[in-house]
Amino acid sequence: MDVETHVGYHELSVDAQDTVTEILNGIRMADAPALATVLRMTDRPGGYDADTSLYMADALTKIGREDVAPGTVDGPAYLDDTDGLRELEKLGYLTVHDLAYQTSSSSYLDEGRSLTAIRVLRPFHTVGVVYRWRRALIGPADEWDIVTRPGVVWPCVYVRGAVGDYRSRDVGLVYAGPPELDTDALIYAIREDSDVFTCHAVCDSCGADWYATDGSWTFHANQAHADFGFDDARRHAANTVLCPEPLCVSGRVGFTVG
Ligand SMILES: [Zn+2]
Ligand SMILES: [Zn+2]
Repeated sequence: MDVETHVGYHELSVDAQDTVTEILNGIRMADAPALATVLRMTDRPGGYDADTSLYMADALTKIGREDVAPGTVDGPAYLDDTDGLRELEKLGYLTVHDLAYQTSSSSYLDEGRSLTAIRVLRPFHTVGVVYRWRRALIGPADEWDIVTRPGVVWPCVYVRGAVGDYRSRDVGLVYAGPPELDTDALIYAIREDSDVFTCHAVCDSCGADWYATDGSWTFHANQAHADFGFDDARRHAANTVLCPEPLCVSGRVGFTVG
């Protein structure tokens, strides 16, 4: 992992967003603007544009203005603006797979992170529609326009990264490969390349070294006289602390997560 470890009096962590960005950069074959727009419009109630209604159809079925007229019963499927991804899954267009989910309390992440694979099985497209009530304030809208056409989402595997302990924030979405791409291989690669559960400590003078796991600040001696607690570490400076080894005079201990 090529992400800097932050060391301070009350901090021993890596930036979750940096780790997710690094993972997405490693997986990215291309960007995924069409699906990214759909996710932005469906996942954030009121955040993107609360007034836009989203409809979808398979890629070969055109959606024109009359197809989304108020009161149309046999028009394209309406995607709820709170959980559009689940609805696309129910309609059989895609499946969703959890690749990684880690909290800040059980790792060295400064906040939680999640990575999700979205496997699109059938091509589809969407339109965003704005309805207006000009003449009457109740009943069906009397004016409407298709305001956005994000384009066709083709069958393939997309990977989406997010961070946050309580409320998650999108970090990015990338095209990762063809629809048959093995998500177990992605899970394995993330675990191997982005270990956020182990922290190594090494003295630059005497070479003593320690390790800690699962977000703990207790460092176990690997080649050193004793364990030490990061809370008791002295003379913090430039991401290092004073070496706790009894015979080491001025060694500095550096930390690396991963
Ligand atoms: Zn030392
Ligand atoms: Zn120990």
